[in-house]
Amino acid sequence: MTPQQHSHIVIGGGISGISAAHYATRAGIDSLVLEQDTRIGGCMQTAMFDTLDGFWIEAGSHSCFNSYGNLIDILEPLGLLPLATAKAKQSYALWRGGKRSSIFSALHLAELLRSLPRLFTQSKAGASVAEYYGRGLGRRNYQDLFGPAFRSVICQRADDFPAEALFRKKPRRKDVLRSFTMPEGLQQIPRAIAERSGIEVRTGQGVEAIETAPDSAQPGYILRLSDGSRLGCRHLTLAVPPDVAARLLQPLAPEAAAVISDIGVVEIDSLLLAFPKDALTIPELAGLISVDGPFLSAVSRDFLADPRWRGFAFHFPADTLDDAARVQAACTALDTTPEQAAAIRHTRNRLPSLRKGHGQRLQALDTSLQGSRIGVTGNWFLGVSIEDCVTRSRQEHVRRFGDDLPRRQ
Ligand SMILES: Cc1cc2nc3c(=O)[nH]c(=O)nc-3n(C[C@H](O)[C@H](O)[C@H](O)COP(=O)(O)OP(=O)(O)OC[C@H]3O[C@@H](n4cnc5c(N)ncnc54)[C@H](O)[C@@H]3O)c2cc1C
Repeated sequence: MTPQQHSHIVIGGGISGISAAHYATRAGIDSLVLEQDTRIGGCMQTAMFDTLDGFWIEAGSHSCFNSYGNLIDILEPLGLLPLATAKAKQSYALWRGGKRSSIFSALHLAELLRSLPRLFTQSKAGASVAEYYGRGLGRRNYQDLFGPAFRSVICQRADDFPAEALFRKKPRRKDVLRSFTMPEGLQQIPRAIAERSGIEVRTGQGVEAIETAPDSAQPGYILRLSDGSRLGCRHLTLAVPPDVAARLLQPLAPEAAAVISDIGVVEIDSLLLAFPKDALTIPELAGLISVDGPFLSAVSRDFLADPRWRGFAFHFPADTLDDAARVQAACTALDTTPEQAAAIRHTRNRLPSLRKGHGQRLQALDTSLQGSRIGVTGNWFLGVSIEDCVTRSRQEHVRRFGDDLPRRQ
């Protein structure tokens, strides 16, 4: 049977895939997004608790910023920017030696003052996070405070991460909230972009394999889905983690696949806990940066106060503790017990593990993709932030379909 034919198929329904489909749709190219999960959003994952009056906790990303220019350029014409909701400004605390303490307690001020000038004069190019920030903030500051803080941002050891991929400087839109979420959490963003752009999304549709269409008069690709069905398309965008991209690209673009297979992936066990407000005594906080605890970081839901509930997401390196031990570790850090929790949920996140030398890897990948109808996007190009994903999707759109989009660097 001839597979159903589409103009453009995007594999992966995270923000990279949804933004790629948005750009194509805006350029008049009908796009179908195939997502293996039962929901779209990927790491933009908001856990909704129906039994707690719809209270939600971010299981993945929690903040967008007014420096996310490409994202804002998508939200604005779709009428979504007015939904941006301010996050209350709160401080993170350290979790060290089994106790919460202030960030300043770990700061070596004299060393910071001595080192800081180097931060503004040295280049990030080719340096690892440990090299760049160790020089610019001081070795002891890096070891005791900033290393753990960066680890908590990227949910993995930060030392070998490329400095260029962490905190890329981007211009701010002063008329937009500095740090924002959405009324239903950040997962609302990919969902609303898909709905308002008129993108067709099919969930529960994992792609198992891709081959080149046999008809050379009609170039394109045939996709084999997890349910055994097949779909054809003229243009294809991969917006999946690097290990999946390497596997899918192997038969079509072995050179690109070889470069991608060098990029690792880390898995994160994320634990969500909701408590009645009066069951907790710890003061409101943004979250915890773990220096030596079993978790990497914790992010609270205090940024958007709820009259009845408080919520936390604790992120652990995958498979290091069982469910009960994770719950106990989180409750200890919150001065409470598992019995006080109104809801507990476990989920898993995946993030790329970028390493020094990533820039050369990407150059090799982009060279091998030149002239190809296949676009490859994700959080493993410019960096892991939501804006980095959207920016890569935009670049891949322009490479293949031309620059019909409003100008932005
Ligand atoms: C705990 C955590 C906190 C974070 N906090 C922030 C933050 O505050 N701000 C920020 O900017 N960024 C943050 N990030 C990073 C950011 O959320 C992610 O990097 C970004 O959302 C990734 O989007 P993506 O589309 O590239 O990948 P993903 O979100 O991983 O999406 C890939 C999608 O592809 C699907 N898929 C995989 N294989 C297949 C297949 N074979 N067929 C079909 N579909 C497939 C997956 O199911 C998934 O939905 C955070 C990340 C984590 C994990």
